[in-house]
Amino acid sequence: MADEADRAQEREEQQRADALAAQARRSQTDGVEHEFCTKCEDPIPPARRVALPGVELCVECAERGERTNKLRGR
Ligand SMILES: [Zn+2]
Repeated sequence: MADEADRAQEREEQQRADALAAQARRSQTDGVEHEFCTKCEDPIPPARRVALPGVELCVECAERGERTNKLRGR
């Protein structure tokens, strides 16, 4: 039978895990909707921002980046 201290610790660990998960979600998207491309500062179409939450690049820059990655063999 778990005593009160064990249960409290369990709860604390669960809360910490939740906080870390929330932090990870925030850092993925930065918590920011990028209205403009962070590279060329062109506006990012709303449809693109909906499809890719937290997207930072316009289509053009993203495609350029993807091409660069392919050239690197990825
Ligand atoms: Zn751009």
